Formats: sequence, C-alpha cells, structure tokens
Amino acid sequence: MALEIITLPCLSDNYVYLLHDDETGTTAVVDCPEAAPVLAALESRGWSLDMILITHHHWDHIDGVADLAKATGAKLIGAKADAHRLPPLDTEVSEGDRLQLGNLNFEVLDVSGHTVGHVAYVFHKALAVFTGDSLMAWGCGRVFEGTMDMMWHSLQKFHSLPRAMNVYSGHEYTLSNGKFALTIEPENDSLHQRMAETEAARAKGEPTVPSGLGLELATNPFMRAGHIKVKTALGMLDATDAEVFAEIRTRKDNF
Ligand code: ZN
Ligand code: FE
Repeated sequence: MALEIITLPCLSDNYVYLLHDDETGTTAVVDCPEAAPVLAALESRGWSLDMILITHHHWDHIDGVADLAKATGAKLIGAKADAHRLPPLDTEVSEGDRLQLGNLNFEVLDVSGHTVGHVAYVFHKALAVFTGDSLMAWGCGRVFEGTMDMMWHSLQKFHSLPRAMNVYSGHEYTLSNGKFALTIEPENDSLHQRMAETEAARAKGEPTVPSGLGLELATNPFMRAGHIKVKTALGMLDATDAEVFAEIRTRKDNF
C-alpha cells in the first residue's frame, strides 16, 4: 500500500493534490480551479486520471473540473448536498460514505460551515485528510453559508483522527493565519516555533502544506477553542466551546 501525493500550486494561492495508488496505477485529483497545470502534471508522470474529488462548490476549487473531466474521462465525486451547483457528478457522497481509489479505501466527512455541503476525504491508512477550506493550515475557512455552531461541530470531527494524520488543505494562507493565531495565544511557545518554521518555508517559496493534525491541535486557535488556556486568554471561561470558536472566527474576519 502506497499513496503518492503531489502538491500542485494553482491560481495565486490554491493547492490541488494529485493522488496516485502505486499498486493499481489509479489516480485522483482533489479540486481543480484550472485544468492546465493538472494535465501537465499528469502527463509528465505518465498517469491517467480516474477520479476528481470535489471538496466544495467555490469557483477556486471547481472552475477547471469540467475541462479536466472532458480531457481525461475521469469520474466526478462530490457532495450530494452540492450536486445542484457542481458539474454533473458520477458519484454523490455524504457523511460516512466509503469509496475506493484503487486498493485504497477512503471516507467522506461532512464538514459544512464554510459552505453547506463541504466535504473532506480521509485516507485512514495513508494518514492523509483532504480538507479544502474547512480545517486549513493554522486556520479554518470563513463561515459563509453555515453557522458558527455548524463549523465548530465540523472541526470536532478532525479531533477524532490520529495525531499523525497529514492535513492537506486548499490554500497557502498559513503566514497570515499564524499572525492572527499569535494574537490569541501570544505566550504559547508552540506558536512561535511554528511561525519560525512557516517564515523559513515561505522565504524559500516552499508550501506549508501538508501540516500535521497534531500541530494543528497544538497551535490552531480554531481547534483550540475548547482549551482552558484559550478561554482564559479571551476572558471567556464561562462560555461554551462553540461560543469561544465564534468569537475567534469573528476576530479573524476583522483581522
Ligand atoms: Zn472556498
Ligand atoms: Fe477556496
């Protein structure tokens, strides 16, 4: 069992991921704002595309999907709840569904909040989760369509995955996310260490994805809203976790 994962920068700050099951030669892509870089990456490796996994309906995740499907014949997989606003799907998925990429089983999580119908794809054995604009490196997506409660509940689903899980999210926002995170927990050494690593990576033009779930749990304010230290820092000891999450998300929106 080996899942090869290629990170492809697209547009100005989006990430697209190519997934290749070495055993069967089966290949998938997660999201596609533009077809050309994905087609070039496939061609350079001699891979043919079998599946396009869509996380959510925003244009910067799907604008290249129809062209890519036409050029490759790949099957489209996306949320049933989003089917009315995605290119025609071959497989409509929802929470808990299990699918196969070659010999690799993967699971669908409904992580609505940024949009309603946003899904994540978990490859348990490969320790890889593709999160789109739900959980992001050192941050989370803005809550556009769902409620703060819904987004908090969605992020909770990632808490139950192994700490060693690698988080493949949809954008390179990590530096600005980190600057905001430091306003919430300025005394937390783990945040300062991550900032140093993030600055070093960006100075070299390297992506900061994937990140580790363990690192997100230790440094991401949106994953830490239930933490006593965070509640104390915000003067919200009596608030619910979801209320603290909502406060942090609102502050980020205005940051
Ligand atoms: Zn989005
Ligand atoms: Fe996006």
